[in-house]
Amino acid sequence: MKRIVIKVGTGVLTDKGGVLDDGVVRDLVRQIAVLLDGGREVLLVSSGAIGSGLGLVGMKRKPNGLSDLQALAAIGQAHLMETYNKFLSAKGYRAGQILVTQADFDDRKRYLNIRYTIDALIAHKAVPIINENDTVSTEEIKCGDNDRISSLVADLVSADGLIILSTVDGLLDASGSVVKTVHAISADIHSLVLRSRSELGSGGMATKLAACEFAVKSGIECFIGNGKREDMVINIIKGQGVYTHFKSHAVRYNAKKRWIGFGSKPKGTLVVDAGARLALAERHKSLLPAGIVSVKGTFGAGDSVTIADTHNREIARGITNYSSQELEKIKGKKTKDIGNILGYKDYDEVIHIDNMILL
Ligand code: GLU
Repeated sequence: MKRIVIKVGTGVLTDKGGVLDDGVVRDLVRQIAVLLDGGREVLLVSSGAIGSGLGLVGMKRKPNGLSDLQALAAIGQAHLMETYNKFLSAKGYRAGQILVTQADFDDRKRYLNIRYTIDALIAHKAVPIINENDTVSTEEIKCGDNDRISSLVADLVSADGLIILSTVDGLLDASGSVVKTVHAISADIHSLVLRSRSELGSGGMATKLAACEFAVKSGIECFIGNGKREDMVINIIKGQGVYTHFKSHAVRYNAKKRWIGFGSKPKGTLVVDAGARLALAERHKSLLPAGIVSVKGTFGAGDSVTIADTHNREIARGITNYSSQELEKIKGKKTKDIGNILGYKDYDEVIHIDNMILL
């Protein structure tokens, strides 16, 4: 594995009171430096902004108010970067901070631009350190969790490996032992997920599994291990020690389709009739206005939307050529009537098959 994304959770970086553990950061940086010295490229997705902010201002529990959380994130993020930088510079490297929101992933241009920045950072011997921009992210614009961000970033930069460091030893089976290797993330594997959430972070095994599920489909080897254990990263690279390895799959979809299916967040739903469902799912046709029964949500042309059947089951996702307002007028109508109804016709298809991924 040449290019590796490491994700480290709040629980690994801070104690329960939210004090950033310098020793943990120093040790993580030491391991990263070993990889860098060996010619590998490393990107870090680091949580812990809110967690360490809590400790710095002396709060006992995570507050509920959004502005308090955002203030803690701002304080904690600065401290986090200062700490990473201190230890990275001692090893001859530097930290490059990248803060993202869901909007950066929804807009394909912005999304691809992140990659160029990351490539440039790596060329400058900097470790890109990525986190959600918690200080401006409100619920509607949030990526959600850093597990998801780590898999999106791993896919975006065509990483070979994704290492998720948590406070558990890996995915545990029904008897509590670590599952060593997962070849396919089946229903059985999903059933092993405990809905445990760490107190200060926002993840849990479910979000880690979802991240791995996406990343393995992008051809990325994924690992979940205990970041509190000595040399976890190095051991994973060497193939020794205890952790779960999720084997990568052959890549089925191109990068754009993977982004449509997982990177962008759908802004609305197009409900289609049985005929359209069949045309998409079985005959791999584009979506035409005639098959659309109803339109939910408000969105513009170029936004990502869900395509669902009349039973509310999601069958595909795609980038729509028409806005929700336009679709309200042309739904159920023939393609040849689009021009008459709207006064213009930019596209025959509502969603072209090339801009659609079947789920
Ligand atoms: N962005 C959050 C933080 O830095 C963490 C989110 C997560 O753990 O998934 O505090």
